[in-house]
Amino acid sequence: MVENYGINRFYTCLTRMQREYDKYARQNGMRAKTREEFLGWKEKTKAKLIRMLGMDRMEMCNIKPIVAERVAIDEDIIREKVIIQTEPDVWMPMYILIPESCRNNKNAQCYIAPCGHQGAGKYSVAGVRDIPEVAEAIDKYNYDYGLQIAKRGYVAICPDCRGFGERRDIAKQGSEFFMEGSCYNLAHIAESLGMTVIGMNTWDLFRLIDYIEERDEWDSTNISCLGFSGGGMQALWLAALDERIKKVVISGYMYGFKDSHLYLNNNCSCNYVPRLWEKVDMGDIAALIAPRKLIIQSCSEDHLNGPRGMDNVNEQIDIIRKAYDFFDARDNLIHDVYPGEHKWHSEKLDEYLAM
Ligand SMILES: [Zn+2]
Repeated sequence: MVENYGINRFYTCLTRMQREYDKYARQNGMRAKTREEFLGWKEKTKAKLIRMLGMDRMEMCNIKPIVAERVAIDEDIIREKVIIQTEPDVWMPMYILIPESCRNNKNAQCYIAPCGHQGAGKYSVAGVRDIPEVAEAIDKYNYDYGLQIAKRGYVAICPDCRGFGERRDIAKQGSEFFMEGSCYNLAHIAESLGMTVIGMNTWDLFRLIDYIEERDEWDSTNISCLGFSGGGMQALWLAALDERIKKVVISGYMYGFKDSHLYLNNNCSCNYVPRLWEKVDMGDIAALIAPRKLIIQSCSEDHLNGPRGMDNVNEQIDIIRKAYDFFDARDNLIHDVYPGEHKWHSEKLDEYLAM
């Protein structure tokens, strides 16, 4: 048989698009020389990104929290299922893992633990191992970081982001899709409406912080966020755009856009924001977090780093480090590199929590 039915050359346009990237990318990147210049850049960039994400279109509403379930799980941890309204008629279910020591404790610290792909939303993060597929995902990615945090004496809040867990849209509601998400479908709809999945998820997490403030049971002045993979993406954007996050751990989501989202162009659509690359690279977004505490985790063989591997990661870390230098705050920026493929590493979790 003739291979490829006689086609021996392909006429593709990817090289053309790479040229476009080189011509126009990162026009608003972090190039400040002083702290004052940095602060000016930060203010303008945040406003620009909020518009690009479509967040100026999000609708305010009462949160109307419902506590739907309260069960005791292992090691004196109560697991609440709480549902809050983030926009009119848009509801976000979450598991809140509350250790005994954190009940009605104004000194208790909260960690928001957003979910990534392939973990059924909050189920993996909160460690719901009685579902076999969830147990498998936890073993593969060390995915139960919410439970890991709660076991160490902190409140862990594990929401379903849009399109995952109990928020799957019609295309993915069958039980065969339990571990999957409809973020891909949502991204197509959002894009045509001038909205983005990243913008909607970041908004929901803003509202989750509002809920923590309203609930007034724990320390709402010192809230942290920890996320892996797509959860790392949400952690990055939340911390960049909401100063109420005082510490953030981003695992498996820090690399340059050109290698990781243009060359590796089979990432889920929910990663993409129209015209984002013209303005900033990923390191610029993370630079907005300076000088607050920022821990970044990479895996040296993570395929998402792109064809140049850790070089593509380290270039972004260099951008971020410059921002921390304006505040003499290098101690607040940690970059840990582990061997192997895409995975959350909890070896230093105690250290991160104590920071
Ligand atoms: Zn997605």
